[in-house]
Amino acid sequence: MDFARRGVMLVIASPSGAGKSSISRALFAQDPNIKLSVSVTTRAKRTDEIHGTHYFFIDVPEFEKMRDNDELLEWAEVHGNYYGTPRAKVEQELAAGNDILFDIDYQGTLQLYERCRKDMVTVFILPPSIDELRARLERRAQDSVGTIEKRLRNARTEMQHYGEYDFVIVNEDLEQSVQQVRSILASARLERERQVKLPEFVTELQAQIDALN
Ligand code: GDP
Ligand code: ADP
Ligand code: 5GP
Repeated sequence: MDFARRGVMLVIASPSGAGKSSISRALFAQDPNIKLSVSVTTRAKRTDEIHGTHYFFIDVPEFEKMRDNDELLEWAEVHGNYYGTPRAKVEQELAAGNDILFDIDYQGTLQLYERCRKDMVTVFILPPSIDELRARLERRAQDSVGTIEKRLRNARTEMQHYGEYDFVIVNEDLEQSVQQVRSILASARLERERQVKLPEFVTELQAQIDALN
């Protein structure tokens, strides 16, 4: 039995290449109640990316306008580009009882903690080794050699922040990691405070007992 509930803000973070996009894609494919928070970014579009699906690709003046009009729930500079989370969609989906997945870095996670801690569940993804992390970044073949080196070096700082997350997963086997995130989400959906119709339901059960007499 499912009750009306408030959506979960599921944050997945990791050093670049550890697998958060792959895990996120698999979650969406299996569960229509999960929506992605599509960020705005000033970074260049990769060849396989679609505007509006992976990101909204905008220029720096447009980004600064959104930021200054308070249209972003959080924003950060990552690997030399700006990234930010548009606010409007997040508020709509949570109220509608849909879960929202955020692929944001630790700076964004800390900002969201300040505003939305009660709605959030956060997961940090680690690679099984640095050799494997480099291999994955190279295999993705979407970034230049210089960009890959920069992302590898930034991984050190990003990893330092694993302690700020509720859950940590080492992404060795993709299918197992996806299953682990699904378990985390399933538990979060059952948290008492998210089940907004519980008080009425318990009252109704008690009324049924009263009617027995
Ligand atoms: P992005 O970070 O959003 O640009 O996207 P990804 O880099 O996550 O995806 C790149 C490609 O890797 C896609 O074509 C996926 O189908 C593929 N892929 C996803 N999971 C795996 C995996 O476990 N192993 C391998 N070898 N490829 C995968
Ligand atoms: P991120 O979104 O964290 O930057 P991606 O999901 O894009 O990382 O993953 C980087 C690369 O590693 C992709 O080519 C992806 O297919 C691959 N990958 C992800 N998870 C695994 C895994 N468990 N085993 C092998 N390759 C993986
Ligand atoms: P990529 O360029 O690989 O898509 O993303 C680079 C980094 O930026 C990742 O660590 C990703 O989590 C982060 N990122 C993407 N969107 C946002 C966002 O809206 N806000 C913040 N703070 N970080 C983001």
